[in-house]
Amino acid sequence: MSEQSQKSGFETRAIHAGYDPDPTTGAVIPPIFATSTYKQDGVGGLRGGYEYSRSANPTRTALEGNLAALEEGERGFAFASGLAAEHTLLTALCRPGDHVVVPDDAYGGTYRLFAKVEEPWGLRHTPAPVSDVDAVRAAIRPGETTVVWVETPTNPLLNIGDIEALASVAHDAGALLVVDNTFASPYLQQPLTLGADVVVHSTTKYAGGHSDVVGGALVVRDLGLAEKITFHQNAIGAVSGPFDSWLTLRGLKTLAVRMDRHCDNAEKVVEFLSGHPAVSQVVYPGLADHPGHAVASRQMKRYGGIVSFRVRAGEQAALDACAKAEVFTLAESLGGIESLIEHPGRMTHASVAGTDLEVPADLIRLSVGIETADDLLADLDRALAT
Ligand SMILES: *Cc1c(COP(=O)(O)O)cnc(C)c1O
Repeated sequence: MSEQSQKSGFETRAIHAGYDPDPTTGAVIPPIFATSTYKQDGVGGLRGGYEYSRSANPTRTALEGNLAALEEGERGFAFASGLAAEHTLLTALCRPGDHVVVPDDAYGGTYRLFAKVEEPWGLRHTPAPVSDVDAVRAAIRPGETTVVWVETPTNPLLNIGDIEALASVAHDAGALLVVDNTFASPYLQQPLTLGADVVVHSTTKYAGGHSDVVGGALVVRDLGLAEKITFHQNAIGAVSGPFDSWLTLRGLKTLAVRMDRHCDNAEKVVEFLSGHPAVSQVVYPGLADHPGHAVASRQMKRYGGIVSFRVRAGEQAALDACAKAEVFTLAESLGGIESLIEHPGRMTHASVAGTDLEVPADLIRLSVGIETADDLLADLDRALAT
C-alpha cells in the first residue's frame, strides 16, 4: 500500500502507509526488527538495502514511510528524540557563520539547542515573533540567513505563524522554511503543502500520543534535501530504535481519531473556562478574539488540544489549581491521551524567567486528553474553587 496510500485519505494513510503485510508470514503489523546487522548474499549483496541498523532498520523504515505519507512529503526520517532530529537537521543545513531566525517563544529545549549548542559551534540566531511576518522579514540577514525556523501554534501562548507567508519571506531571502509541527500534528496542519521545506516533529507528543515513547522526525519533499539528511542521520547516528519506532507507528495509526477527540474536549474546556469567574483570560486559537484566529482557521483543520488560561487571583491561585487537579495530572510534556496540567512560569518555562520570553505568572497550560469531557470540566471546577 505504500505507493497507493499516498493518494488515499488521511486515516487510510495513517493505518497503511509505509508497510505492506510481511511477504513471508503475512504479519499485518510490522515486526520489531531487533537486529543490528543483516546477512549479505555475497559481499555487498544487501537484501532490500539493509546493512546495519544505524543506516536503516525495517521497523524504522515503516515509520518513516508513514510519517512522509501523513505530512504529504517524499521522505521521512525518525530520530531518538525531537531535539536529535533538530540537531541533525541544523548540522545538515547550516555551516559555522550562518544565521537562522528562530521563534521568540520557541520550545525551551529548541531555544537551548540554538543558544547553548549551535551558537558556540558558530550558528548565529535572532529571535522574532512568528505571528509577525514583517518582524521575521526584518530579522533576516540577507546572504547570511539560511533557515527561518517556525513553530505554530507556539508554546504556551499558542501564537500562530502564517506558514504560506513565512515560506515566501524565507524563499525571497534564499533561506529554507522549517516548521515544527509538533503542536498541530499532521492531522490538523500539513506545512509542506503550504510551502515549508522541512517539517520537524517531537513524535513524543501527539504522533506517539500515549506518553510512552520519546522520538523525533523530519519530513521533506525535496530529494536533494532528503539526501543531505540521509547522510547526516547515518553519520550522526541519533536514530530511533526499532522498539521506539514500533510504538510511534502504533500511535500514528490512531492519530486522526485521537486528534478529533482532543479537539472536541479542548473546545468544551475552552467554553467552560471562558464562563468561569476564577479565570481572567482563555488562550486558544479557536477563539475569535485570539490574534491568530484568522490564520489558524485558514491553515489548520481544527485548533488542537492545548489550552492556556490565566487565573484571576494570581500566581499562588494558579499554583494551587495545578496542585488540586486530579484527573489532570500535574506534569510536563503534552499530546498524550491523558490530560496534563502545568504552570509554565515555574515548570516548562522556568528557564526563560527574566527574559523577553517570560510568561505570565498566573498562566496555566492544559494538554487536554481524551477522557470523558464532563470529568475534565468537573476536575477544573474543583481545582479552581476557592
Ligand atoms: C517536546 C518538543 C520538542 C522536543 O522534542 P523531544 O522529543 O522532547 O526531544 C520540540 N518542539 C516542540 C514544539 C516540543 O513540544
